[in-house]
Amino acid sequence: MADVYHDEVEIEDFEFDEDTQTYYYPCPCGDKFEITLEELQSGEDVATCPSCSLLVKVIYDPDDFLGEELKSTVTKDSVKLTS
Ligand SMILES: [Zn+2]
Repeated sequence: MADVYHDEVEIEDFEFDEDTQTYYYPCPCGDKFEITLEELQSGEDVATCPSCSLLVKVIYDPDDFLGEELKSTVTKDSVKLTS
């Protein structure tokens, strides 16, 4: 199942564009994988390349991407897993 992904990439290795609020990572095809901040905050962890069919799994700590409001009012212990 793991080979669904072209690779697994840590979020620190992505390049963040503040204008588009999107993380980018170079794709072998010459384009870039992309995943938006919003997607990360909603738990999405798959970055896609718009020019080819490759996918990369993004390695990140979801706690780092909780919305600021959530972060200040919800502690780890009180968060209920919805899945
Ligand atoms: Zn590509």
